[in-house]
Amino acid sequence: MLKLGVSYYGNRIPWRVREDLKVIREAGCNYIVLTFSEEDVEFYQGAFQEIVKACHEEGLEVWMDPWAVGQAFGGETYSSLVAKNLAVRQVNTHGESLAIACPNHPAFRDYLLKWIQAAKKAGADVLFWDEPHFMIYPEPDAQYPAKLWACCCGVCQALFERKTGQEMPQLLTPEVRLFKEDCLVATTRFLCEATVENGMKASVCLLPFENSSTVNDWSKIASLPALWSIGTDPYWRPHQSDVEQFVGRFARRIKELADRYRKEPHLWILNFKIPKGEERTIRTAIETGYQAGIRNFAAWSYYGASYISIRAEDPQAVWKTLTECYQELLKRPS
Ligand SMILES: [Zn+2]
Repeated sequence: MLKLGVSYYGNRIPWRVREDLKVIREAGCNYIVLTFSEEDVEFYQGAFQEIVKACHEEGLEVWMDPWAVGQAFGGETYSSLVAKNLAVRQVNTHGESLAIACPNHPAFRDYLLKWIQAAKKAGADVLFWDEPHFMIYPEPDAQYPAKLWACCCGVCQALFERKTGQEMPQLLTPEVRLFKEDCLVATTRFLCEATVENGMKASVCLLPFENSSTVNDWSKIASLPALWSIGTDPYWRPHQSDVEQFVGRFARRIKELADRYRKEPHLWILNFKIPKGEERTIRTAIETGYQAGIRNFAAWSYYGASYISIRAEDPQAVWKTLTECYQELLKRPS
């Protein structure tokens, strides 16, 4: 079945959200990705229960996104957790405490379990674990030696020693890279299992670039038994000339992995920071994904993200293009 979605944020006034939900439904969407930040958990739980109910009434499946929670997932907002609980923060090799939570820290995992409970209470169908990562530094090269990385907090050091029988090195060795990746995989496994135990489906989006602070061997995520859907977000740059090849490479990779492990593949489509006149790239990306066998698309974000600094230059044209593409997909024989 064709699944078409869009992410939605910036508004928590339920009766105003309803107006947008109609537009989203009319565009052809059958699901919505609601950002659910730490602020939302703390102050807007009641509003979210109403919003999710409204989404369901409009016929939209609801995915909820731990938007910038602990800054260890994607999102353009703040984390209060890393300000209130300094012990939970990642530490780099210079001993600096960073404003991003450590995925290995038990207190962060406890917070994430609370987040899952809050999303469940709101009525989520799918929990969308978006871009899990350690603090991202540039990849080392001749100019940038592998001396600065995270996390080497006390929890990570103890875990590294337990796993390898060795002290955690200062340099970003192959052992450290593997350790970091496996920590992200273990955290994602923990979150997917908790999602399923709470009666929801688990979806994960992986960052489309190689870095020692992200998951690079995607099969480690695709093979998680509790995972339902795996996706990626190959967001092209303004004026990029090879959108088709760029998106196609990732779409095929996701489709191949999803097929191998019997998961639902999904693909994110850029709908922000698009220069005026380049809206056709949306069509190119969706068509490329479709040709690769993707039948689950989501756009970031609603109405060309017109209400936030990452907005497209002509959000109206972006939304019109996305709507046309979704409508065309719906007319194709399944
Ligand atoms: Zn750590």
